[in-house]
Amino acid sequence: KARTVLLATEKAFAADAVSKIEAVTSAAGYKLVRLENYKSKDDLLKAVADADAMIIRSDKVDQAVLDKAAKLKIVVRAGAGYDNIDLKATEGKGVVSMNTPGQNANAVAELVFGMMITSARNNYDGTSGFELVNRSIAFYGFGAVARAVHKLAQGFGMKSFAYDPYIPAAKIAEMGATPVATVAGLFEHQYVSLHVPLTDETKASINKALLMKMPKGGTLINTARCEVVHEADMVEVFKARQDFCYLCDVAPDDKAAKEAMTAAVGDKFGKRLIFTAKKMGAQTLEANDNCGVAAANQIVAFFEKGETRFALKA
Ligand code: NAD
Repeated sequence: KARTVLLATEKAFAADAVSKIEAVTSAAGYKLVRLENYKSKDDLLKAVADADAMIIRSDKVDQAVLDKAAKLKIVVRAGAGYDNIDLKATEGKGVVSMNTPGQNANAVAELVFGMMITSARNNYDGTSGFELVNRSIAFYGFGAVARAVHKLAQGFGMKSFAYDPYIPAAKIAEMGATPVATVAGLFEHQYVSLHVPLTDETKASINKALLMKMPKGGTLINTARCEVVHEADMVEVFKARQDFCYLCDVAPDDKAAKEAMTAAVGDKFGKRLIFTAKKMGAQTLEANDNCGVAAANQIVAFFEKGETRFALKA
């Protein structure tokens, strides 16, 4: 019987990406079942019963989903962050989990610059702004997205700094960024851009003490995950500093937290506080195609050749 690949996307891919995914699965003789824009978890629990493989975006794969997934062998997160997969639970069931590293990095990097320019030019309100040239940007985490931002920053004539304990300092330097030895060291720079995954180590790690250290016009950019920032502290920092800016693609899910931040900044022109309407970093035609097709190819390579290069560990 043909293998079934479930495309479970609460937030659907662009139609073009879906047809490209389907081209990959049908070339392998697999059946693609689409569960897009679903409204309730029950829909997912029903659909997963028949799936040999799953492609997801921000959709949660937890024990409840796995309990219903009798045939599931592999789940691929079409994207970078995989904090929505319970890796202990997938490992416990012998299900392989993967992400598609790097495939949406450029999309996120361009959004970072879009938000930086909007803020530096006072959201185009008619007043005088400033230029990015010669300013410094410091990266917390120096993986695929940070490197893509760094590449653009070089084009803008900015100076880059990076903290990433999992990458040798010499390698960071080789790529043209100055290695920084501690997280605190990042906050000496005007822009700090977050590119770490959400882990126990990074959760709520951006706090008031760090943000108060930032120089005048200090700007935090968050395209990582909202939980990396200590939200109550952020409200305090907005109250304490009139110059501080927060540019965020990953607004808190918690409406009250979002409202508290908005009220604290009192910035009706959106210069100091930018929240995208919803998470938009990877919302481009190209990133949809890249991530979706990579996920489908990884599933086919896994079944046909036992390829597990992108497998994740708990
Ligand atoms: P990546 O895996 O290529 O890079 C992550 C980097 O963080 C790695 O180099 C790793 O060594 C480093 N790191 C891990 N723990 C760290 C720590 N405690 N301190 C410092 N560095 C640490 O991932 P990426 O593609 O660059 O994406 C980074 C994160 O951005 C993802 O995990 C995801 O949460 C988020 N993301 C968001 C969007 C969006 O739509 N806004 C899109 C892509 C990625």
